[in-house]
Amino acid sequence: MLAHPVSDFLGSSAALCDAVLRLRGAALTEELGRIARSVVHSPQGRYLPPGTEGLEAWAGGLVQEIRFENQSFGRFEVAGRSDYTDAERQHLASLAALAGSVLQVHSIAQRSTHAYVQVEAQLQHQSQILDQIHESVLTMDMNGFVTSWNKGAERLFGYTPVEAVGRNILFLYDDEDVGFADPFLEHGGRLMEVRRKKKSGEVFWASLSLSTLHDVDGKPTGMIAYLTDITERKLAEERIHHLAYYDALTGLPNRTLLTKLVDQALTVAQRSKLHGCVLFIDLNRFKLINDTLGRRIGDALLKEVAARFRLVLRDQDLVARLGGDEFAVGLFDIGQHYEASRVAHKLLAALNEPFMVDGHDLRVGASIGISVYPQDGADAETLLRLADIAMYRAKQGGDSDAEHVAFYSRDMNQGMQERMRIESGLRQALGNGQLELHYQPKFSIADSKIIGAEALVRWRHPERGLVPPAEFIPLAEATGLVVQVGEWVLEAACAQAQSWKDAGLPPIRLAVNVSAREFTSALPGRVKETLERYGLEPSWLELEITESTLMHNIDRVIGIMDRITALGVTLSLDDFGTGYSSLSYLKRFPIDTLKIDRSFTTGIPSDASDCAIASTIISIAQQLNHKVIAEGVETVEQLAFLKHSGCDEVQGYLFSKPLPAEQFEKALREDWLAEGR
Ligand code: C2E
Ligand code: MG
Ligand code: MG
Repeated sequence: MLAHPVSDFLGSSAALCDAVLRLRGAALTEELGRIARSVVHSPQGRYLPPGTEGLEAWAGGLVQEIRFENQSFGRFEVAGRSDYTDAERQHLASLAALAGSVLQVHSIAQRSTHAYVQVEAQLQHQSQILDQIHESVLTMDMNGFVTSWNKGAERLFGYTPVEAVGRNILFLYDDEDVGFADPFLEHGGRLMEVRRKKKSGEVFWASLSLSTLHDVDGKPTGMIAYLTDITERKLAEERIHHLAYYDALTGLPNRTLLTKLVDQALTVAQRSKLHGCVLFIDLNRFKLINDTLGRRIGDALLKEVAARFRLVLRDQDLVARLGGDEFAVGLFDIGQHYEASRVAHKLLAALNEPFMVDGHDLRVGASIGISVYPQDGADAETLLRLADIAMYRAKQGGDSDAEHVAFYSRDMNQGMQERMRIESGLRQALGNGQLELHYQPKFSIADSKIIGAEALVRWRHPERGLVPPAEFIPLAEATGLVVQVGEWVLEAACAQAQSWKDAGLPPIRLAVNVSAREFTSALPGRVKETLERYGLEPSWLELEITESTLMHNIDRVIGIMDRITALGVTLSLDDFGTGYSSLSYLKRFPIDTLKIDRSFTTGIPSDASDCAIASTIISIAQQLNHKVIAEGVETVEQLAFLKHSGCDEVQGYLFSKPLPAEQFEKALREDWLAEGR
């Protein structure tokens, strides 16, 4: 029975290896039991896998543990004979040793196969996630060679993984992008905005986040990069930047940008000991064009002006639009500050040629104020403010170019401060009841009777006493405050007329001065409403308008005049002869009275031309069927000349100065009594 123990054992060993490789569970247990039986030629034999230790052993049987390096893989048990030889025992032990090592190897193999499948599933899962996310994700080794490339990267750059993996990351860089090594020097965790190039050649902005990849030992092995296209956001940012720093109409820098750039340039000028100048430019006559021809034409004109300014300046000169019809120029690398006045005259000359806008032949001039660095100021804000003050002075200059350019000087600043003090004081005066009206009687030349009065405003200043209108009306005109002053005057004059009317005084005509800025389409309604409120007949009121009012849009002005005279309120033309009213227009105006300006009356009778002007005005008035009044009559000679020339009415110190209301009332009563009415 033991004829071929060795070949038997070898056969059993082969069978064991084969069983472990191929079989599982009960089949394996069964086969291992069979092999154990055959090795010791035993009628009974079985394999008991781990976990069956509690099972009772066969009586008289032989048990052999199967172990490998302290790990138990169960046991073999044979029985049914009482004569197992040492050799057989040895065979069984050898079989158990072989089984131990084969089962051990198999279990390791199985475990790692399982782990491998799991790892593979995990990788699959991760790459699916990477492909699903919208961002582009790529990895590279420490030298920048791409090692993986997700769908997002393919979508963003246009390269497939096959085209991208293995290439150096530099192929995605915009040519202008420098310093590629930078991200590799960094230790990850960086977020930056970069420019990258697509397969199509298109360059775009991306946000790039880089992190370092490490191996199990913590050694860096490469980088992982996340990229998102932020071109849209970058463009929006650029648009916002443009809105914040550029004037939408002309495309020129705005005040904010100008201030920044001037401040930067001043830092440079300081280092190179150069002069700098700021020119403040305000267009003349622009408001008139804008008001009469409309905003569209006004805008087109401003664009043209901006273009001409840009054209006459050098590239390094700054030009900005500050708003409205105001521009500013910054000049920096100039050796002497008088060079700035040359530039100022170049800018003025650029406006000489008329502008053709929409078939209109338009002319605008400009007033330019100049401040100088470093003598006037050392920062943009200050230089702009002082150039503005100088501009204001230039505006008050005469007609020639030279007078439309002014350098800033300290006196100007004082003048400006005074101006600002008056302006804020006047605002308070309006609210605090510091304004009052004086009344200067108007007389009929024929019988020297009072036929009316001119209401003249005064400011009762708490410190300065009674301030004459010449000291605040021009300023109020410039700031627009004259509109509120005018509203107050109309109100106060009507209230006074009502009280005289109620006191039983004879009806007289009260003249109220109306400035050009008040002469809007709202005026007739306001006049009507005020008269009604005080229960006054329209014959109580007269409005004195100046020639400057007529220089605006003629048809519009005539429309407003017609609405006023339709109420029954008369109009007189104040300061006549000082403006430029065209005689052809004069006959179209529904004017009741022409008022000869005091400057002509003064020269009567010694100045021949004043006399000629006065008598011409009188004859024009007669031909146009207007009444005529002379103001500023101070002497009997003047009165005699005017009477002889056919003037209807007079007003002046010869008869009376402007009087407070009570005194005027007294004069009116006396005049009335003398007449015996
Ligand atoms: P105006 O409307 O031409 O008023 C006549 C000015 O001449 C008044 O000066 C008056 O006091 C002055 N005057 C009258 N007769 C004589 C005279 O014989 N000799 C001299 N030397 N002066 C005489 P006033 O009151 O100082 O007003 C000056 C200007 O202020 C006015 O000129 C008018 O343009 C303006 N003004 C006065 N009140 C108002 C007002 O309520 N509204 C507006 N918009 N302007 C006003
Ligand atoms: Mg007047
Ligand atoms: Mg006058």
